[in-house]
Amino acid sequence: MNQPSYTQGRQDKPLLAMTIGQAFDATVARFAEREALVVRHQQQRYTWRQLADSVDRHARAFMALGLKTGDRLGIWAPNCAQWCIAQFASAKVGIILVNINPAYRTSELEYVLKQSGCKWLICAGAFKSSNYHAMIGELLPELAGQAAGQLNGERLPELRGLISLDAEPPSGFLPWHALAQMADSIELEGYDALQQSLQFDQPVNIQYTSGTTGFPKGATLSHYNILNNGYMVGESLGLTEHDRMVIPVPLYHCFGMVMGNLGCVTHGSTMIYPSDAFDPVLTLGCVAEERATALYGVPTMFIAILDQPQRAEYDLSSLRTGIMAGATCPIEVMRRVISELHMAEVQIAYGMTETSPVSLQTGPDDGLELRVTTVGRTQPQLESKVVDEHGCIVARGQIGELCTRGYSVMLGYWGNPAATAEAVDPAGWMHTGDLASMDGQGYVCIAGRNKDMIIRGGENIYPRELEEFFFTHPAVADVQVIGIPDDRYGEEIVAWVKLHPGHSASGEELQLWCKSRIAHFKTPRYFRFVEEFPMTVTGKVQKFRMREISIEELARG
Ligand code: AMP
Repeated sequence: MNQPSYTQGRQDKPLLAMTIGQAFDATVARFAEREALVVRHQQQRYTWRQLADSVDRHARAFMALGLKTGDRLGIWAPNCAQWCIAQFASAKVGIILVNINPAYRTSELEYVLKQSGCKWLICAGAFKSSNYHAMIGELLPELAGQAAGQLNGERLPELRGLISLDAEPPSGFLPWHALAQMADSIELEGYDALQQSLQFDQPVNIQYTSGTTGFPKGATLSHYNILNNGYMVGESLGLTEHDRMVIPVPLYHCFGMVMGNLGCVTHGSTMIYPSDAFDPVLTLGCVAEERATALYGVPTMFIAILDQPQRAEYDLSSLRTGIMAGATCPIEVMRRVISELHMAEVQIAYGMTETSPVSLQTGPDDGLELRVTTVGRTQPQLESKVVDEHGCIVARGQIGELCTRGYSVMLGYWGNPAATAEAVDPAGWMHTGDLASMDGQGYVCIAGRNKDMIIRGGENIYPRELEEFFFTHPAVADVQVIGIPDDRYGEEIVAWVKLHPGHSASGEELQLWCKSRIAHFKTPRYFRFVEEFPMTVTGKVQKFRMREISIEELARG
């Protein structure tokens, strides 16, 4: 064979052998009076010293609630200061933070709370079309009569209490603002001893990614996994205490809480949240007024920012760098980000939740061509290979499945050893399910996905999960879900539906039915009602054929 498709990242950058709490404290000690966190929509600003005060108080308050190292604490809220405080406070005492997508609705919430065995949940009051208190009330009708901390719900037997970010939540919820003073009941000595007992290989975070088996799987990540990934991403960007990073990406995903928060914490850079959820105008205003040096986003966010007619009114000249990642980055968008957003040093990163997330990244010295056509080379201290369907490494230039090995590979899927064994092989390689090729210099191009996942506006949607959901509708006899290309969102969802004889349903009716049950981004845009699906002779549904037909039909209008 020619050169095999296998590379190692640089080995000259040592990994951080410490817990997240230790890394956080080291930064606080170095940069105490510099700005640590700015939350524009809450008008809050913290220096590292002020942030540390709040983090330590909330860590002790979590102990006072009875949460112990290894217990799970859910967080179901859009980006806010409390999200950041909860992330570091939980890590300080080794509580495993369970990130819950704020767009989740009751059925998804119940599943992840139960599957991870959350003891406490932090939730927002209301946001956009989600009323979190009301949804929790649906799952826990007994809540109103019970004291926070002594919850005894039939559907969520392990959940002991709820913390609301609202100042005056309904009965049964403990308000967030009541936590700080609870810290006093925990002696500092006990708190310090607990911190010192933690090990960096212990789990600290669970992030749910929708699985092809139909239900979300909880990628379980250690201090070592995510601290080092945030650190290496920041090293590649050349972050320092003088950098100010605008983080419009969601904190519940690795992009926000690892590449954003931990990237900053490991370098003393300032974390800046422009809004609770992405908004292109607020992001532009934030960059200009905060004199930001770095900006993160998925391609659709950068497209929305570039499309803003008032963009020229904002002074973006302070920007230097940033990352575009999460989905294929269109070449033209990359060129415009460099020239029109002043992000001369912007980099591309590739990764997945299960690998903390980044495994490949373009470097500061990579020319424009490499940054617009590849996802870069293997990150320091990691290995990449491309294999064929038998698991054999292919020659450079050939397409196969991309695999990653090293410090960033998750501990496993929470409570699901079978799914873990399918994803991570006995030699420690995470099989990404993405098709890729590696060139002679080790630069990787993503060719597509060999799994059926749809990526709509940066959100991953697994057809199998949606298909199983539609099966619960009384009129639906069979259903197949596919993704088709879309200029705005990258992909749009199409559901092909076979109805039971004698039943009727329209696309609008099914969309309405989805509304209160699943996150809005998973609701199919198009429905096609059919008698049969295209099948192979061996009885397998031909999704590629369905895709061709839907694309053709929609083009005809
Ligand atoms: P997630 O687990 O949500 O981070 O999604 C991971 C998936 O996003 C990967 O398996 C890829 O399919 C896709 N992805 C992430 N980054 C990129 C990128 N830079 N280019 C193309 N696809 C990407």
